Amino acid sequence: MLAVSKYAPDAAVQILIDAGQRQFGESRPQNLRDRANRWPDCEWHMIGPLQKNKAKYIGRHAAVWHSCDNMQTAQAVARYVTDRVLPVLIQVNIAGAPGQHGVHPDAVEDFAAGLRDIANLSVVGLMCMAPKAGDVRQAFRAVRGLRDRLFDGSFSDADGGELCMGMSGDYRIALQEGATMVRLGSILFGDQDVR
Ligand SMILES: *Cc1c(COP(=O)(O)O)cnc(C)c1O
Repeated sequence: MLAVSKYAPDAAVQILIDAGQRQFGESRPQNLRDRANRWPDCEWHMIGPLQKNKAKYIGRHAAVWHSCDNMQTAQAVARYVTDRVLPVLIQVNIAGAPGQHGVHPDAVEDFAAGLRDIANLSVVGLMCMAPKAGDVRQAFRAVRGLRDRLFDGSFSDADGGELCMGMSGDYRIALQEGATMVRLGSILFGDQDVR
């Protein structure tokens, strides 16, 4: 479980850490850097859209990058990954909806193959958000199918096969459909922007 702390104040983050939580999701690169510096014993996962000019924060400080959907940005991030390998999830735009983040399902395999050529990045799975319209369960099932094909096929020798899907409103469905990670924000912290 990732605790999505993007709207949570530091005091609320500290309460979860005291309760034993170590995996957190942030969607703004500078906030991720600040919190990774403040709480280095936790793992800070990047889950939001990333612009190339913020790549250094993710290459240096993210434990996992979940929202990878652009090759140029991936190359930029990799330049800042030193002395380690950064695990990456490919964000899938499962409905193929224009204007939403993520790689079109038909392009995921080629995109994954391209990422393989980038040193210091390692593709470990897929991430998605439920489509704004349509059947959530069907969407999750489709991403699971993609994950199964990718990690039984061209990536069968690779680590991973992670499937990061499900938020406060739909995590039960995501778990039923095989999610290995869920991203929970408002159900943990409340839904007000109190930061
Ligand atoms: C904010 C956010 C979440 C958490 O959403 P909740 O509905 O508050 O649980 C999960 N994933 C991403 C990518 C987010 O930006």
